Amino acid sequence: MPLYHTKVYGIVQGVGFRPFVARLAARFRITGSVCNKGPYVEIFAQGTEANTAGFFTALEAEPPERSAILKVDTEPMAETKTYPQFDIIESAKERGDIFVSPDIATCDQCRAELFDPKDRRYLHPFINCTACGPRLTILDSMPYDRERTSMGEFPMCEDCHEEYVSPETRRYDAQPVCCNTCGPEVYLIGEEDVRGAAAITRTRQTIADGGIVAIKGIGGFHLCCDASNDCCHCPSAPAQAPARQTVCNHGP
Ligand SMILES: [Zn+2]
Ligand SMILES: [Zn+2]
Repeated sequence: MPLYHTKVYGIVQGVGFRPFVARLAARFRITGSVCNKGPYVEIFAQGTEANTAGFFTALEAEPPERSAILKVDTEPMAETKTYPQFDIIESAKERGDIFVSPDIATCDQCRAELFDPKDRRYLHPFINCTACGPRLTILDSMPYDRERTSMGEFPMCEDCHEEYVSPETRRYDAQPVCCNTCGPEVYLIGEEDVRGAAAITRTRQTIADGGIVAIKGIGGFHLCCDASNDCCHCPSAPAQAPARQTVCNHGP
C-alpha cells in the first residue's frame, strides 16, 4: 500500500492540528501516524492512491481555523512497512524555527457550556477546547504538550482524560483541558474561603462599587476598574470600596 512521509510547517501546534490529521485519516481510511516535532508536524500516511490523494487535498484545504500552513513537503516512501492503524504519537524535539499560536478567546461552544447549569464546566473560568484557550502564555518550552505548560501541575480528572483521548470530542488532544474538578481555581487573596463563582461575583461587585482589583490570570496581572468612573482616587469622592486582589492558583 502506498506510503508517504509529510512535513507540515507553520502554526500547527496548539491549534488542534494533530487531532485534525487523525480525523482526516479516519475519513480517508489512512493508517500511519502524526507527531509534533516542534518546528513541524510529521505525518506518515498509508492508503490507496485515491485515499491518500483525498487525504492530502483535505489536509491543505480544511486546516483547523487557527492554524496557518506555510509549507507542506510530501515524499513517497518505499513500502517496507505496513501501519495497522493511525496513531498520534508523543512529541519529539527537533531543531528549527517554531511558530506558536497566541492565546485564543473562548469559542462559542465553550461559552455555551460555560453558562449551561447542566454542564460539568458550568462557570469554570478556565474552560477551553482544541479551538480556544491559552497557548503561548502557559508554555514553558516546546513542543507544545501539557507537561511543558503551566497545566502540567493540574493532572486531568478521569472525565477530562476521557475527552482528551477520544477523537470524537472537542477536547481530543487539547493540552490545557480542565474542569471544575481538576483545573485551576480562582479565589480572593486574604479571603481564601471565597472561591470560584463567589470570588468572581465579589470582584465584579468591587469594580461596580468603584474599587480596583488586580486579577492574576494565566498571562500575568490585569488591573481592573470601572473605566467610566473618573473618581476612583479623587479625595473628594464618596467612600469607596477597598481595593481587592483576586488570583488563581495557577503557578507562582
Ligand atoms: Zn472552545
Ligand atoms: Zn477535569
